[in-house]
Amino acid sequence: MVNLDAPLSSLLPPGTGKKADRAKWLAGLGLETGRDLLWHLPRKYAERGALTPIRDLVAGENVSIVAEVLTVGEPQRLRQRDGARMTVTLGDGRDEITLTFFMAKPWQFGPHQQALVPGRLVLASGTADTFNGRWQLAKPDYELLDDAENGVAAATQVDRPIPLYPATRDCPNWLIRDCVTVLLDQLGATEDGFEEFLPVEVVLAEGLLAPLDAVRAVHAPRTPEELELGQHRLRYEEAFVLQAALAMRRNSTAGLRAIPRTASDRGIAAAFDERLPFPLTGSQERVGKEIAAELARPHPMQRLLQGDVGSGKTLVALRAMLTVVDGGGQAALLAPTEVLAAQHLRSITAMLGDLAGGGMLGGHEEATRVVLLTGSMGAAARREALLAAASGEAGIVIGTHALLQEHVQFADLGLVVVDEQHRFGVEQRDALRAKGNGIPHLLVMTATPIPRTVAMTLFGDLETSVLSELPPGRAEVQTVVVPLDKPAWVDRTWQRIAEEAALGRQSYVVCARIDTDDDAPADGAQEAAEEDEPLLPAPAPKKSSKKKEGPRPAAAVSQVVEVVRAHPATSGLRIDVLHGRLAPADKDDVMQRFSTGDLDVVVATTVVEVGVDVPNASVMVVVDADRFGISQLHQLRGRIGRGGLPGTCLLLSGASPGSRAGRRLTALSNTRDGFELARLDLEERREGDVLGSAQSGQRSSLQLLGVLKDADLIATAREAARAVVDADPDLSAHPGLAAAVAARVSGDTEAFLGRA
Ligand code: ADP
Ligand code: MG
Repeated sequence: MVNLDAPLSSLLPPGTGKKADRAKWLAGLGLETGRDLLWHLPRKYAERGALTPIRDLVAGENVSIVAEVLTVGEPQRLRQRDGARMTVTLGDGRDEITLTFFMAKPWQFGPHQQALVPGRLVLASGTADTFNGRWQLAKPDYELLDDAENGVAAATQVDRPIPLYPATRDCPNWLIRDCVTVLLDQLGATEDGFEEFLPVEVVLAEGLLAPLDAVRAVHAPRTPEELELGQHRLRYEEAFVLQAALAMRRNSTAGLRAIPRTASDRGIAAAFDERLPFPLTGSQERVGKEIAAELARPHPMQRLLQGDVGSGKTLVALRAMLTVVDGGGQAALLAPTEVLAAQHLRSITAMLGDLAGGGMLGGHEEATRVVLLTGSMGAAARREALLAAASGEAGIVIGTHALLQEHVQFADLGLVVVDEQHRFGVEQRDALRAKGNGIPHLLVMTATPIPRTVAMTLFGDLETSVLSELPPGRAEVQTVVVPLDKPAWVDRTWQRIAEEAALGRQSYVVCARIDTDDDAPADGAQEAAEEDEPLLPAPAPKKSSKKKEGPRPAAAVSQVVEVVRAHPATSGLRIDVLHGRLAPADKDDVMQRFSTGDLDVVVATTVVEVGVDVPNASVMVVVDADRFGISQLHQLRGRIGRGGLPGTCLLLSGASPGSRAGRRLTALSNTRDGFELARLDLEERREGDVLGSAQSGQRSSLQLLGVLKDADLIATAREAARAVVDADPDLSAHPGLAAAVAARVSGDTEAFLGRA
């Protein structure tokens, strides 16, 4: 047995040359023990057949290329100083690159001349730069790939993949490969820490390699198939452990007690359903039943409600809240911004009518009270709201982060609804849940549709409901990209707004910044600015020195409102601004006037991004649309086409159609399917960013998995993991798995699972 936790210096026998200090060079990469080295996995693989293209090199980067020796130059004495130089030209079938070696004396090039014979295949590493207009690697490291000594198979097995490790100049790829090979050669068939810990039925069903075989396969694959098997085992293992951890978290809450809540035949929920002006959609009906069944159980509901923009999530949530009120409890609705909280209050009170008149003269006999609690409320209003929550008089409490504060008390909190989840961390949703006297039921609503596997990975402890259809009568929304360099088109945009106003309809104009003084987009509602970061448009460039040519800063609300006001087409229109820097009362006032039709145009930041619901609004203009992300634009577009009126979404952009941003806008104009757009969005960004955003800034803890490319694998692993955890809740029959889960939960996954 090899002690893999021993320092590398004791595991790797001293070599010669660079290898004399190999443990030291490896330490530079943070690799101290044998185990560290084995888990330093190749970043990718070079295949002999498909050479790594020289034309993809980036100057200044440490690179590894695979190419063939074309010509070998004669050693030359250096003119300026002592020493000699020799150059070797390599080609990858398309482009060429020069390797430049330096020695004190010309005869010292002997070994290189012997090794680098034209026709031989070489893996060369070094820092790429250009010299006299040609790519070169100066003082490169190289290894011969068709060298018989370099492995039995080299000459015969042309398809053996070559691992390329994260490497540095000091610790090049060949050195890492060499050390890994030395270490692997010492290992027996089994080693401590590499015992099989996945349940045997899972191993058989998936045809998984044994752990150590998988590690060997990824470090020293003999064939592409073997590599594939090794990678599959490691990815599956990662997915399985993660999903087992999530399943345990889910089961542990399911084991807690909650107060069952059911609607009564003649209660507020029934009264509300009776007066609904439209029938529920099939999805709303189905999901409503799922939720009602769970609320009626003595265990806390843990549900994620997904649905595209406009699918009617709020109504589903409201019916759940009323069920809880019927059952004698209270419900809290947590919104990410004050604008949204205020709007929820308005729309929920409006939907409830006299059912919201609890404690008031003329209220319905089943009526309850709905109160708002936000950070910016005046002291008196705040005190009253706090009292209504604490006394139980308020059946529904709507608020922002302020609801999470310690002194906010509820008489009997039965349900927590978190709206637009992406802005709340797991800790926050747990903080609010801790306010119940049992554990309150939990309903999480996402603003942005999430591809299924991302949901499973991020919210794997929640059951998922999807509203898969939009209410009928949803009008078409036409999306058009308006190039900023076509003034006639831009003119047409403002005319369009005027035409809609003449028909009594409203328009939004959204900008990336509040003011021209702002360096960065400041909004998304100020209060949620931190959590917002990943969803905000790329920061506008700093207006540093005038000399530097950079992209033009994004247009600001303050500028655009002047442009719109000054345009001949819009004269006489009622135009105002909305952004996070306004006082809360002013924000409220603008939204109020806009929704009642007393304003024609609101020029705003992304405060209107999520949830804002003004059915009479029919035009959405986004200025500098290329500065926004796909999901964000989809959300913005979701603000229109709500009230059965056909909508127009005009994306003003200076990006060329072929650029990445241009392609994003084209995709948007081609589809309204939020799930499809979310997938595109995810493909565009690094997946870590997406996972990171929901983990309050923590780095993604996924090491090998990609939530999109490994979607099927994650789904299979989840099912298998749930089955194992359901049958063996504390994993006492699977000690190896229990240890792996514990390691995962205590390590970098802590934030991920909200168990900090
Ligand atoms: P989202 O899922 O984006 O939060 P909302 O809850 O804001 O969607 O609903 C969008 C609009 O659709 C609201 O004006 C709401 O009143 C309306 N709506 C919800 N359900 C139905 C339905 N079954 N039939 C017609 N309109 C509905
Ligand atoms: Mg909503």
